Amino acid sequence: MRMTHNDVNEIDEEVEKWTNENQVDDIEEVDDVIGINKRKKRSKVWDEFKEVILPTGKKKGECVHCKKQLLIGVTRATTQFKRHLDRCAARIRAIKKQKILHIENSFSQSSQDGGMLTTFKYNHQKVREIIAHYILINEKSFSIVEEFGFNLILKSMSPFFVKYSRATTRNDVIQVYEREKKIEECFKGH
Ligand SMILES: [Zn+2]
Repeated sequence: MRMTHNDVNEIDEEVEKWTNENQVDDIEEVDDVIGINKRKKRSKVWDEFKEVILPTGKKKGECVHCKKQLLIGVTRATTQFKRHLDRCAARIRAIKKQKILHIENSFSQSSQDGGMLTTFKYNHQKVREIIAHYILINEKSFSIVEEFGFNLILKSMSPFFVKYSRATTRNDVIQVYEREKKIEECFKGH
């Protein structure tokens, strides 16, 4: 798949959004030693930093993306870790790659099974109504619905489309015409 300039911009925005969302500190239920639930604050930076203990006993956080180690202070302040994640080139690359994969997947899915169109529901009645309108407005012949090319277009747009006769079409057009006439009368004199 070729990426356009717009796609890249969109990915950049997504990366920024993702970064912001994932840096919100969240509250996690933690069992303490005597088994009482304690609400403890846990920053999401720890999803991306692995805690390592140096031979000296000092604790460091290792970035899972670039392996850079930063000292964990006694207060476990996360500012410098957050700052690193914002700038970590390896992380930005990883997120971009993930986003591109996601976009590619949704593209290939949409061509396979309708993908994003999974919520689309074919409404044959509605299609017939639109065709009736089209025939009425453009003064087309009722027999258009029996034309091979016309059916091919509709069938290619939805496999649920079923060919129907000019007699049915004639009824549809009359119904649409009558309804429009009533609507028009309603608006007369207003
Ligand atoms: Zn890093």
